[in-house]
Amino acid sequence: MIRAIRGVHDILPPESATWQHVEATARRVFEAYGYREIRLPVFERTELFARGIGEVTDIVQKEMYTFEDRAGESVTLRPEATASLLRAYIEHGLHVQPKPVRLYTLGPMFRYERPQAGRYRQFHQLDVEALGEEDPALDAELMLMLLEFFRALGLGDRVRLEINSIGDAACRPAYRARLTEYLTARAASLCGECRERIERNPLRVLDCKTPACRPVLEAAPRLADSLCAPCAGHFARVRACLDAAGVAYDVAPRLVRGLDYYVRTTFEVTSTHLGAQNAVAGGGRYDGLIKLLGGPPEAGNGFAVGIERVVLLLGQAVEPARPVALLIPLGQAAVARLLPVARDVRARGVAVELGYGGRRLRAELERANRLGVAVAVIVGDDELARGEATVREMKSGAQRAVPLAGLAAELLALGGRP
Ligand code: AMP
Repeated sequence: MIRAIRGVHDILPPESATWQHVEATARRVFEAYGYREIRLPVFERTELFARGIGEVTDIVQKEMYTFEDRAGESVTLRPEATASLLRAYIEHGLHVQPKPVRLYTLGPMFRYERPQAGRYRQFHQLDVEALGEEDPALDAELMLMLLEFFRALGLGDRVRLEINSIGDAACRPAYRARLTEYLTARAASLCGECRERIERNPLRVLDCKTPACRPVLEAAPRLADSLCAPCAGHFARVRACLDAAGVAYDVAPRLVRGLDYYVRTTFEVTSTHLGAQNAVAGGGRYDGLIKLLGGPPEAGNGFAVGIERVVLLLGQAVEPARPVALLIPLGQAAVARLLPVARDVRARGVAVELGYGGRRLRAELERANRLGVAVAVIVGDDELARGEATVREMKSGAQRAVPLAGLAAELLALGGRP
């Protein structure tokens, strides 16, 4: 037997109904804010991610699915969507559209991580980006929309928003130097991974989840105290907008994100109901990245939501749509009579299942039970001769005769359609 690859999952019914619900909710909420869908390829030239995510990030150094295609070109399964989305934005000249250009996309991402609960090698994200706008009100609006998405799913009180500012090219280098100095002096009290990161990517050290590292990290110099005036002003405006909208949030001074390109605003949505992998969404501002990828010098802003974790938070499955009736023809003449009825009803959006005429009535009624349909419609030779169908209410077992000519209307009424 061939099994699925480790860290990769099938999404089976009825859970797939929960996925559909999450995706439909995302589309509805995002589109209400003016976002439109962009569909992107799942693989790109490796160089795009190396540049767009950052050479010194964990993703690029350790987690990418990279391979040579048959022509010897290095390609990579996308580990996130922002780089691809910006590539498309630049390639198709979307920057001529009114700013901010608001786009969303969703689909599978691939990272070679150690699989555990809530962490997979193929996982799915909802990804939202707003391009070409510097105003801090946009940062706040993105967070507001993200929380609205969770509220619409009934998860409003299971998540919380954390925000931070990580400065920009004007103030971060000096902070980085101070932090490096602080961490180097205390390297002996840090875990191996932190020690490795001190030189490569010291801000990421702040993010370490190892309990032993906590005391050193909690006493580390804070970026918030080193922000330059424009960054401090930006952060204050983001907070003022969130306050004005009545959004609850926590300032998390050590919230830095895994990707290299963030400036100023970073944020995460976390939940205490998820165990170790407690982040369900994350994002921030990445002014400068569009230029880095060969586009105009424009601002960028966005977030990604992990769909698996949203589904975990939702817990029990959303009830999937089911057929309202099983049509049971007894014999081929009855199949021929019921096929067009089934087609008409289905064409009007009401789901019914149709048997094939070969099975015994008892077995078909048992199937109707297991499908959970409201009624079984039985048509044998006797019924055909009378021009009728027998409609059996599955719950009560009560049966009544319905003229075949009125059967479609009867089924449509069951499905709530006139
Ligand atoms: P990131 O792109 O790393 O900022 O991640 C954004 C969101 O995607 C996270 O908050 C998670 O909800 C989700 N996510 C990231 N990596 C994984 C993974 N390996 N498995 C499942 N979900 C993930």
